[in-house]
This record gives sequence, C-alpha cells and structure tokens, in this order.
Amino acid sequence: MAYTDYEPVIGLEIHVQLLTKTKIFCSCSTEFAGGDNENTCPVCIGLPGALPVLNANAVELGVKTGLALNCKINPLSVFARKNYFYPDLPKGYQISQYEEPVCGKGFIDIYIGETKKRIGITRAHLEEDAGKSSHAGDYTLVNLNRSSVPLLEIVSEPDIRSAEEAAAYARAVHSILLYTEVCDGNLEEGSMRCDCNVSVRKKGAEKFGTKVELKNINSFRFIEKAVIYEIERQIDCLETGEKIIQETRLYDADKNRTYSMRTKEEAHDYRYFPDPDLLQLHVTDAQVAKIKSTLPELPMARAERFQSEYKLPSYDAFVLTQSRTLAEYYEGVVKVCQNPKSASNWVMVELLRELNEAKLEVTESKVEPAHLGGLVQLIDKGTISGKIAKEVFAEMFKTGKTPEAIVKEKGLVQISDEGSLRTAIAEVIKQNPGQVEQYKSGKDKLFGFFVGQAMKVTKGQGNPELINKILKEELSK
Ligand SMILES: [Zn+2]
Repeated sequence: MAYTDYEPVIGLEIHVQLLTKTKIFCSCSTEFAGGDNENTCPVCIGLPGALPVLNANAVELGVKTGLALNCKINPLSVFARKNYFYPDLPKGYQISQYEEPVCGKGFIDIYIGETKKRIGITRAHLEEDAGKSSHAGDYTLVNLNRSSVPLLEIVSEPDIRSAEEAAAYARAVHSILLYTEVCDGNLEEGSMRCDCNVSVRKKGAEKFGTKVELKNINSFRFIEKAVIYEIERQIDCLETGEKIIQETRLYDADKNRTYSMRTKEEAHDYRYFPDPDLLQLHVTDAQVAKIKSTLPELPMARAERFQSEYKLPSYDAFVLTQSRTLAEYYEGVVKVCQNPKSASNWVMVELLRELNEAKLEVTESKVEPAHLGGLVQLIDKGTISGKIAKEVFAEMFKTGKTPEAIVKEKGLVQISDEGSLRTAIAEVIKQNPGQVEQYKSGKDKLFGFFVGQAMKVTKGQGNPELINKILKEELSK
C-alpha cells in the first residue's frame, strides 16, 4: 500500500472549560456538586423568560487565552443561538459565537523533534456547555450541573500534517492553558476536549479530501493513535476505490479503531441567529492591554530563554518548560547550584523518574529545589561522588531531608585524603598479584578492575580522580 503517496490534512477543535467561579450566563457555581442538578437555576435549566447575563470573568479568561494564542481580539463580537434538540439542552439551543467570535486569527509554534513549526489558529469563541446525559439500560438521566459552564472553543487551521504533529499541537495548547491558568487542563474529566478533523489527499494535490471528524478523544496518546488509524483507514478506502463519507467518528481506545457515529446526512443545520437576549460583546483596547499585562512568560518563550540563558539543548529546554511548575522548580535548582546542565540532568532524569514511579506531581515532591541545588553543589565541590549522590537523592526523595544532613548522618563524605587512598590501593595491589602481573604484561583493560576494587574497599566513597591517579603511579612501578 502506497501510504507515502498521500498527505494527511488535520485541524483540531479544542473545547476548554474556563476556570470561572460561576457559570457563563448565571450565578450558579461551576464547582463540582455532590448532587445531580444541585448547581442549577431558571437560567441554566432554560426556563422560559429567564434572562442570561454575561459573566465578565469568562470574557477575561477567553481574551487571555486568545492573547496567549497570538489571536487578534475582536472589539465587537456577537452571541448566537445554535439550535438543536437534545435532552441535556433544555432551551433547545446552545448560546455560542458564530460569525463574529471574540478571538480572531492567531498561531502557536510547536516542536517536532528539533524542528519548529507554526500552526495557525482560525478563531476562538465563547460558548456555554450543555448538561450531561447518563444512559443506563432503557432510560437516560439528565444532570444539568454542567449546563452553562463557560467554554472556549479553539479552532486550528488545517495546518497539521501528521498524527505526531496533532498530538504535539494539543500538548502545546494544554501547556499554554496551564501556564495562563485559564483551565485545569484535565482531559480525563473533560475540562479539555479534543476533536480532530482528518482528511487525506494525494501528495501535491491542492484540493482537500473529504474530512472526517474524530470526537472527544481524552488523552494525547489516543489523539496520536486515533489519527494514525484514521489516516490509514482513509488511504485504504481510496486505494480500494471506496468513497470516503463525511462523518463523525468515535475512537475506541480498547480496540484502537474508529467507528461511525453519524454521517453528514444526519448532521444538523443549526440555524444560527444572534441571541436577542444578549447585547453585543464589546472589548476595549484598554481591557485587552490590562489582560495582556497579566500574561506570564509562555512555554515557548521560556524554552527559548532556557536555551540562550542556560545554554541548554533544545530537548532539555522543551521538556523542562512543558509545565510551569516544573520550569519554576528547575530555575530554583539552578539558582542555588549555578550549574544549569547538571541541574537539568538531575531534574529530567532522577527527579522525573522518581515522581513518575511514585505517581506524584512536581509540586508534591519532598525534595525542595534548593536542596537539589545543594546536592549538585556537593558533587561539584567534590564532597561526594556522582554515584553516592544518587544514593543521597533517593533518601532525599523519601525523607525530604537536606543532602548535607544525609551525607553527615550516613558518613558518605568522599575520601579525598591521599594518604588513606594510598593505603587502600596498596591493599588492593597486594591482594591481587595475578591481575597485577597480567596488567603489567600489557592487559590494559584490567585497569578498570583495579578501580572497581579500590572503590569497593573505600565503600564507594573514594575520590575517583585521585584513585585513578594513584593507581596509575603504583601500577607503573
Ligand atoms: Zn444557573
């Protein structure tokens, strides 16, 4: 099959739940409620005559996200009614923005390996969430706690050309959402929902192929797998002369395949029209400037600064800046030890490994950044060897003690006293006359054996450089 003859064209629509205290058109709480339909009122359950009032904080968070995505903020936007029937939408329409969204064109940059790529943003608009239906046997329960929770829908340009890019783009958006603190970013709980529009075309063709929408994929890994599956399915269709149907498909993670949910013939015509109950939304330049001033340094800018300021390789800079808390942790380590590359290795390798194993977030780590910085300093000063440092780090991770305290408690200070190292090495040479003879007759590889023995005698605490030096002297006698 000639997969390489085809080019996938992918665009993502990401729904983001904005972290406001109250809903977008009423004052009901957005907090998780224990009871079904507990956080509801006449507005969000759609009783006739109840009037929506726009939540200013939802607008602020929407604009903030738009600015972080380099979007043009439209001074005037309009709320529209998107009409359709579903039991969890009691009004019979969803309030959304259609032709005039609050955020216009923008872009973000993503990394694919070492290569930077720009993905265009078409628009980002505010809308309300629907309620939730739970289907059980032959009946359905409706819970309207989620009804009218504010959403921002971020629509990308069809600039994405592979499953890997699709996942990288979704990760980059996720990272921006967490940096700007507009969303909790929880994919599994649906705070961030990704739909992928996938089509394929012969390489060199200008016209797009028929697109298929993959709905509600709840992890980055699944985005990649679902898109790979869909690209191959579509190419198989074209190669066997089958027509691709414009449809919505769902991804089944257990079977790793997509299946049809509805075709275009069943799709709705939403009959959008401006909502007469809501005023046009005006956002002034002064408001935009004020919101802009609250933006933190964003992940891509931070990754670039890490490369220039700390001379880190792009891979390190990218990994360390994926989450704001990790980036801040790293900078806390560097501040103390002044050794950026070593700090990067300790954070990326040892700390992240321990955290992953313990299923902890960086904010839950018992090892304070300053303490990890202190550990790097102990190595750099020659107080402990790198090998002993790993032992100390494991203890720090378990207990939260300072490296100095652990080194003192366990007597792990490196032996850099030449006299005692000479005594230890003399003992090693005396114990292994056979190996000494072989070494002297040209078996150079045995040097490592002597180093190992000397380390063993000094319980791993011998200064490796000094051991090397003394061994060379003694063995050449
Ligand atoms: Zn309400």
